[in-house]
Amino acid sequence: MDHGATQVDVDRVVAVIVEMGYQPHSLPGAQRTAIGIVGNDGRINSARFEALPHVAQVIHVTQPYKQVSREWRPENTIVTIAPGVSFGGNEVPVIAGPCSVESEAQIIEAALLVKQAGATALRGGAFKPRSSPYSFQGLGKQGLEFLVRAREETGLPIVTEAMDEEGAKLVAEYADCIQIGARNMQNYSLLKAVGRLGRPVLLKRGMAATISDLLMSAEYVLAEGNDQLILCERGVRTFDSAVRNMFDLTAIPVVQKLSHLPIIADPSHGTGLRDKVTPMARAAVAAGADGVLVEMHPHPDLALSDGAQSLYPEQLRDLIVELRAVAGAIGRTIPAPRGTVVA
Ligand code: PEP
Ligand code: MN
Repeated sequence: MDHGATQVDVDRVVAVIVEMGYQPHSLPGAQRTAIGIVGNDGRINSARFEALPHVAQVIHVTQPYKQVSREWRPENTIVTIAPGVSFGGNEVPVIAGPCSVESEAQIIEAALLVKQAGATALRGGAFKPRSSPYSFQGLGKQGLEFLVRAREETGLPIVTEAMDEEGAKLVAEYADCIQIGARNMQNYSLLKAVGRLGRPVLLKRGMAATISDLLMSAEYVLAEGNDQLILCERGVRTFDSAVRNMFDLTAIPVVQKLSHLPIIADPSHGTGLRDKVTPMARAAVAAGADGVLVEMHPHPDLALSDGAQSLYPEQLRDLIVELRAVAGAIGRTIPAPRGTVVA
């Protein structure tokens, strides 16, 4: 709609969309209101709209992922996982913590170290998707309770994975943000379920997924009415065994051009090797990532999962100092944990 459009003009367009049998989505923006149309299978006749008062333009979304595309929404979507912790704006929050929640003492120690290092959110899996059924599978509900204790102790919001629909409901009761892991990126019933839960979602790229596959998966969540979704690049499988995965940094500017959703980088799973995490985290911020997810364990050598790629606490501290410098060079900032001030 153009700048002069009133509510009456918007309602008129909405009524025509409904009459045509489609669903309207009103999208008020800083400059003007857009009205999205879903439910059409193929190109619709734009002549019906072009003649209506204060319709500025009819844009046909050319991408198969519609609500995720920048054509649908030109401005960045800001995803807020807790008061003061947002992705997609100028700030580049760091989410850090162990791969798995292993005990109450371990996650509280980790949370205190994460906060001291200057990260803004705590990660840690209670439900772990392991390649082997004999590996540590996570503490489940008890792990979620320990995460809540760690949040009470530090004020850090929690990001943790859900592996199935039932688990997602449980995770939504405890966590600030529900992580959908690489192995579940194309679990469409799980994506629909988290779309309906109304909690922010962190969607990781599958290890053999194209960028288009990732955005199509995100569309499932938005189609259920939840646009609080953060995408995550975590490396893809390739022919090269020198590293666990090939960290696709190009995905960051590619996604930012195609979508209004924030995209963060996970250099821990992206490389699989502790000494590669710091350089690739710096590179991710330089590439424009909207956040960084990094594994840090108080005692990586004792970790029950992903110890080899987990930073030592002092490495996380040094990394965040460096990330502040990189972010500053491109006009962005690494926010401090809530309730703390960086001098
Ligand atoms: C994790 O974050 O610990 C994890 C299992 O990640 P991914 O799904 O990217 O392998
Ligand atoms: Mn892990």
